[in-house]
Amino acid sequence: MSTSAERRAQLKAVYAQARGCTRCPELARTRTQVVFGSGNADADLMFVGEAPGAREDEQGIPFVGAAGKLLDELLGELGMARSDVFINNVLNCRPPGNRDPLPAEIDNCQDYLMRRIELISPRVVCTLGNFATKLLRADPTGISRLHGQAEIRVLGSRALRLYPLFHPAAALYTRSLLDTLRSDFARIPELLALELPEQPERSEPAVAEPEKATVAEPDTAAAAEPTVELPEAPPDRQLGLF
Ligand code: URA
Repeated sequence: MSTSAERRAQLKAVYAQARGCTRCPELARTRTQVVFGSGNADADLMFVGEAPGAREDEQGIPFVGAAGKLLDELLGELGMARSDVFINNVLNCRPPGNRDPLPAEIDNCQDYLMRRIELISPRVVCTLGNFATKLLRADPTGISRLHGQAEIRVLGSRALRLYPLFHPAAALYTRSLLDTLRSDFARIPELLALELPEQPERSEPAVAEPEKATVAEPDTAAAAEPTVELPEAPPDRQLGLF
């Protein structure tokens, strides 16, 4: 198990890699910047949304628009703030015109999400809406059937509680969804208080020896790609509280 400082360093390394990602040529061309995620690198609670919108693309921070304000409000009702949680998305880049993520884009981006989950090791992952729910459950069942039903899932090398919720953007438009989202949200503290689920047997270390866990190492697919020029110093502001 790596220390908190090591995990932060590894997250920053993955972020540095993501900032130059060109796996989705259209998104790499049209984005202002990569929105990697922000919050507490030691969070027990993670939220996974869909993809950055225009405001997120401008600021480099997830959920800063109207849906983000609602997310902040719902967290506040639990006595929590962004600094207590980690917020990220299925896609790191804004799809042009806010279109839905394409299957190939979800596929291209999923190892960034899986590495964030592995490194942050949350106890509870709330999927916001259909895209995150379908991806992390590896199943096409929609959010209307699944919301509010926590289940134990193994993601990467760890078992955790996955908790599908309606997307706050959907709740902004439909009052009944907002009420449902709010009452599903109210159960989050109870889920956080549960024992960690039994962990899968490990045949090898979950997060490999720190020196082997250099997440900055590009995988072979990414290594073959050209990289986008990185600005001199990574803007840590975007990573919130790392
Ligand atoms: N903002 C995000 O960062 N993600 C969403 O899914 C919606 C708005």
